[in-house]
Amino acid sequence: MIDCGEGAQQQMQRMHLRLSRLNHIFISHLHGDHYLGLPGLLGTLALHGRTGSINIYISAEGKEATERFNSYFNRGLPYEIVWHITDMKHSEILIDTEALTVKSIPLNHRVRCIGFVFAEKPKPRHIIREMTDYHQVPVSQMQYIKRGEPFVKPDGTVIPAEMLTREASPSYSYAHISDTKYIPGLATMLESPTLLYHETTYLQHEQELADERYHSTAHEAAMVARDSGAHALLTGHYSSRYTDDSLFKEEAVEVFPHVILNREGLAVDITQL
Ligand SMILES: [Zn+2]
Repeated sequence: MIDCGEGAQQQMQRMHLRLSRLNHIFISHLHGDHYLGLPGLLGTLALHGRTGSINIYISAEGKEATERFNSYFNRGLPYEIVWHITDMKHSEILIDTEALTVKSIPLNHRVRCIGFVFAEKPKPRHIIREMTDYHQVPVSQMQYIKRGEPFVKPDGTVIPAEMLTREASPSYSYAHISDTKYIPGLATMLESPTLLYHETTYLQHEQELADERYHSTAHEAAMVARDSGAHALLTGHYSSRYTDDSLFKEEAVEVFPHVILNREGLAVDITQL
């Protein structure tokens, strides 16, 4: 879960997202619409019999605020909170596993705020069973062949990986840029995400207001999408002064073609972009 505004838990239930599958919560900054749902959610997890642990990535102040709340309203939680204090000034790797990395990127907002990039690592190639059987590749060699290394037979014959394996499945990445003023250098830090969410609070004719309030326009978000090599841009965080959300898409597509207009409850299949 990235950010947790008020009502996030009700929204999860409405969308049939299972609370039991929630293991990592990333908080970008301490504005109410990004944070205030967290204390309530932690209490609800307890009511649902959550055990084990949950990971929360948050600033030191955020941890302090949450713990203070918990000390009054969420006493004796039946699960452990594993706190990961985020460095709000510098980019850092928050998670690094065999399958995935999660990195943070400092943004430019009224309070300290970070974005997140979730990137799958390159996947192993697919074994062609008939070929590995035919060439009698031992199980111990499979891991190397999946990485694209050739197989050397006992008689010295070299079988290239392309003959034994098929192309790996593509790796996907998602960049989540929550509240921020336009940052010209941001695109270079995003490394061609499959999907880029970038806030689009305002339209370009209110550029001054966007700058003043440390938010972005749809035009600016589209520039970041274009310059980062993203496959698609997801809009969002629209100011309530606009009654027609489709204007955000209209403005963005002038700069970048593949724009997905965000709305409450939207699900995007990242493998189809
Ligand atoms: Zn904010």
